[in-house]
Amino acid sequence: MTIVFTIASGKGGTGKTTVTSNLGSMLAYYKKRTYILDADVGMANLGLVLGLEKMPVSLHEVLAGKADVHDAIYEGPFGVNVIPSGLSLEGFKDANPDRLRDVMNEIVDECDVLIIDAPAGINHDGIVPLAVADEVILVVIPDISSILDALKTKMLTEMIGGKIRGAILNRVNSEDDDMTKEQIEKMLGVKVIAMIPEDANVRRASASRAPVVLKYPSSGASKAFRKLARDIAGIK
Ligand code: ADP
Ligand code: MG
Repeated sequence: MTIVFTIASGKGGTGKTTVTSNLGSMLAYYKKRTYILDADVGMANLGLVLGLEKMPVSLHEVLAGKADVHDAIYEGPFGVNVIPSGLSLEGFKDANPDRLRDVMNEIVDECDVLIIDAPAGINHDGIVPLAVADEVILVVIPDISSILDALKTKMLTEMIGGKIRGAILNRVNSEDDDMTKEQIEKMLGVKVIAMIPEDANVRRASASRAPVVLKYPSSGASKAFRKLARDIAGIK
């Protein structure tokens, strides 16, 4: 059985792309057939952080009906299958987000896990990824506006019949944070399933076009991503 996760947040910049690339890479490392797909068609950067931004065919062409999804799949870290979106505005203009469900149906039997990197906001292109997921994972940072935006995303997901798996609390820095895990769980009404520390290695890894779990495996963020992947894969 394939499981489809959508990584969403409401607010931009909370770490959705970081979670998608690192969780996806780790699940592939643990031998799950994993696909990660960049549904942030406007501000695509999943390909960018994995060094796959210049590929000839991207999700843009697939969503425009000009290419087959299998021509937009590229091998990433530990063998994760990456479906990047393109960087051009031209490509974005022609991409139809409503095709996402058809695209998903074409690959879903080939994988154990499909992770969709969702755009910020609650526009139409953001709702489709929420609607096609088996489970939505919210990514929040310990900041009140991020929590309120995630709450909206949660309500929207439930309004359209979707299910929330839990929240990932990213960029945790215990000394500075104004909100605790318990406060966040209470406010959001969902469980925090992972806490990823603030870790400069995350940005450093992206700058060298690799996920932190590959580039700096013993860093704090990598340990947290490894634990999350093991939990999701059901590995003790
Ligand atoms: P989103 O996809 O939600 O817009 P990104 O994953 O692109 O967010 O992350 C936004 C920025 O924050 C990036 O520069 C990324 O490297 C950085 N970042 C994400 N998570 C962490 C972390 N745990 N520690 C330090 N920097 C992080
Ligand atoms: Mg992103």
